[in-house]
Parts: sequence; C-alpha cells; structure tokens
Amino acid sequence: MNIGEGIRKALAKITGKAIIDESAVKSMVKEIQRALILSDVNIELVYKLSKQIEKRSLTEKPPAGRSMSEHIHAIVYEELTKIMGEGRKLELKPQRIMVCGLFGSGKTTQIGKVAYYLKQRGMSVGVIAADMMRPAAYEQLEQLSKQVGCNFYGRKGPGVKARDVVKEGLEKLKNDVIIIDTSGRDALDDELIAELREINEVAKPDEKILVISADIGQVAKKQAEEFNNAVGLTGVIITKMDGSGKGGGALTACATAGVKVIFIGVGEKIGDIEEFNPSKFVGRILGVPDFEALIEKVKAAVPEGMEEIPEEFTIETFYKQLKAARNMGPLKGLFETMGMVNVPKEVLEQGEQKMDQYESIIDSMTKAERKNPDLVRKSPSRMERISKGSGVPVSVVKEFITQFGKMKKMYEQLQKNKGMQRNLQRLFKGKGFGF
Ligand code: GDP
Ligand code: MG
Repeated sequence: MNIGEGIRKALAKITGKAIIDESAVKSMVKEIQRALILSDVNIELVYKLSKQIEKRSLTEKPPAGRSMSEHIHAIVYEELTKIMGEGRKLELKPQRIMVCGLFGSGKTTQIGKVAYYLKQRGMSVGVIAADMMRPAAYEQLEQLSKQVGCNFYGRKGPGVKARDVVKEGLEKLKNDVIIIDTSGRDALDDELIAELREINEVAKPDEKILVISADIGQVAKKQAEEFNNAVGLTGVIITKMDGSGKGGGALTACATAGVKVIFIGVGEKIGDIEEFNPSKFVGRILGVPDFEALIEKVKAAVPEGMEEIPEEFTIETFYKQLKAARNMGPLKGLFETMGMVNVPKEVLEQGEQKMDQYESIIDSMTKAERKNPDLVRKSPSRMERISKGSGVPVSVVKEFITQFGKMKKMYEQLQKNKGMQRNLQRLFKGKGFGF
C-alpha cells in the first residue's frame, strides 16, 4: 500500500461526518501513522506529526464555511506538507550541473530527463560522460543525448581520467547548460570522494545534485549528509518514486538532512520527471486535485458538452472523457492531476491501441446498451454482435464492460466528495478554483 492510499483511507473515516469525536480522531491518526511508517518515514517524525495532527484536530474550531471534516483534511494536508520540506526549482540560466550518486540510483537516466526538461524550456544543453566505472555508461548517455537532441562529449579507453574528460568536454561544448555524469559506487568511499572533488575543481559546477533512489527510504538522510559533507550539494533528485513504497521516507529524510529536493523521477522514460513542490505533492497523495496543472491541460481539451459534470456516469460520459483524455496526453499524469488516483491501474496502463478498441466498441453499441451496459454484460449474443461490428475480440468487449464498471464506481465516489465536485464544476466552467 502506498503512502497516499493509506492516508486517504484514514481520512475517509471522518469524511463527511457531522460529528467527529476524540476516538474517531485517534483512530484516524493511528492509520496515518501506520501509512507513514510503512512508507519508511522516521518514527520520531511520525510521532511528532501525529501528535500535532491530533492536538489540532481536537482543539481547533473550523473557520467559517468549513466543516469539521474539511478542517481536519486541511490540518493533515498542512502538517504533511511541513514534513516534506521545501522544494527548489532549477533555474533556467547558463550553468554547469554535476550529477552524482551511488550505482543504479538513476543518475544517467535523470541526466537525460533534466536535459529534456531544460531543452523544452528553451535552453541549449550539452552532456559530458564522466562515469569511468560503468562499462556502458558512455553509450547510455550518448544514446540519451540523441533522444533528447542535445550535445554529447565523452572519451573511452583504459586509463582515461574523469577530470580530463570533463575539462575537454567543457572546452568542446558550447551550450548554455552543461550536465556532467559521474561514476557511482556501492557506497560513498574515499576514491569516489576524490574523483568528485577533482571534477568539482575542474568544472566549478553551479549545481551539485545528488540522485537518490526512493527505495532506500529514510537511509536517504545518511546518504544526503555524506555526499553533502564530501562535495557540498545544492539539491537532490529522488528517483523511482513510481516504483517504491518508501518515497515518503526518502522525501522526509532529505528534508531532515536539510537538502532540498528539486525533482522527483516517476518512471524510466525521458519525460518522467516532475518538479518537486511539497504542497502539490501532498495534495496529490491526498487526492486533492492539482487544479493549476489541470487547468493548463484542460483548457485546450475540454470537449463540448463536458462543461457540466454529468450527474450520472454513462458510457457516453466515458466516451467523452476518453476522447478528452487522449487529447490531454499521458493518462496516468492526467488522472493523478485530477486527484483520481484510485483509477484502476489497468485503465491507466491502457495503450493507445486499447483506446482505439474501446472507441470502436462504443461505436458499435446501441443507444440502449450505452445507457445500460448490463444488457451487454449479461448477453453473449450482444457481445458477439459488438465484437463483429467493431472488429475487436469478444474478450476485449468483456474487459471493456468490466473496466467501465470500475470507472463508474470511481466516479460515484468522486460524486460524493462535494468539495471536489464544486471545484471541478468551477473548473469546467472556466472559473478557476477556490479552496
Ligand atoms: P546510474 O547507475 O545511477 O546511472 O543509474 P541509471 O540511470 O543507469 O538507472 C538505473 C535503472 O533505474 C535503470 O534501469 C533506469 O531505467 C531506472 N530508473 C531511473 N530512474 C527511474 C525512475 O524514476 N523510475 C523507475 N521506475 N526507474 C528508473
Ligand atoms: Mg550511470
């Protein structure tokens, strides 16, 4: 169970309740504790945070216009945001960036992502392959640079020194931003410290960024401190936030170590990187939509007829949302942005091809069937007919009906959340949002 799921479950216990007594607060706090500990957040920190949530929930009166339940949500949100520390933005200016970290933490991959991020924002970028330890590091970075469309410098061969490669690279590459890949180790040892210090001296980087894998959880504190002592860090990128349940631990550990998180890595692809903004991050794990990001995406993509949130989730709605979602790009990001993090995984992972198949299926359904998909679910002959009409296998028709059922359930949950509904409604009407 990930941190968000656990905390949302805890909050669900008090959501919408008119009377929230001490025992309800205490049991909610217990569940939050459990979720945080499972995410490997330091136990003392968990204790302090939960005391604070408990105290505030039991003593504060909600401000006008806010219910007790809404107020407790806000308290949890505020307190969680505090322990996530501060984020930091990477400046868009000519600069040198040294990227360091242990083996397999994701250095080289993040360099590709950061290069892409900067290129998209109009910077010209060059990368230097100065990881002399890993045999294929050169090729990996060269390949990434081609994918990103940035310049590359590297030199292979036995006995080549990292500092020389960096020096040559800095002379050859004329880009605004130079990003330097460095060697990793299993642990930070004297040899690596010496190498990083040499590169530091030659390159005088503006940014010294440590890449940490989320799966080390709270050990991130020790790692960040050690690298910070050795070379003086300016920030951290935490990777594999998508694949690890310990992301909460890694993030809070960096905050405790006093190093700021700049980005989080959320996948293996070049675009799978996000600026780290604690309040947005917490909002999202709590299922509160990130309206600002959503507005940007939705503006261009709200299809006609979707300005109003429909009362009922029908196949027609699904169809429209499918179309809208396709216009909006990666589905996963979109649903997360909307706070709909409970969307069935299978739905999020649908490829484009599946989306095409779903559209064909819907096209082949009668009006009555769209209105009541149970007709199809219960009738093999209808499935057969739709399969023939759409050219999609019966198994996929079946699967579609099941997925639709799951989406409908999710939608109904969303409908229960009045605050979110109000906000979505405002949003769809182009009025912005009001928390
Ligand atoms: P390095 O040794 O530190 O340079 O690590 P690499 O960049 O070679 O990455 C190690 C592995 O982690 C590769 O298989 C990457 O695809 C994977 N990886 C990197 N970043 C992420 C991320 O944000 N999420 C996931 N799931 N995998 C990642
Ligand atoms: Mg590497």
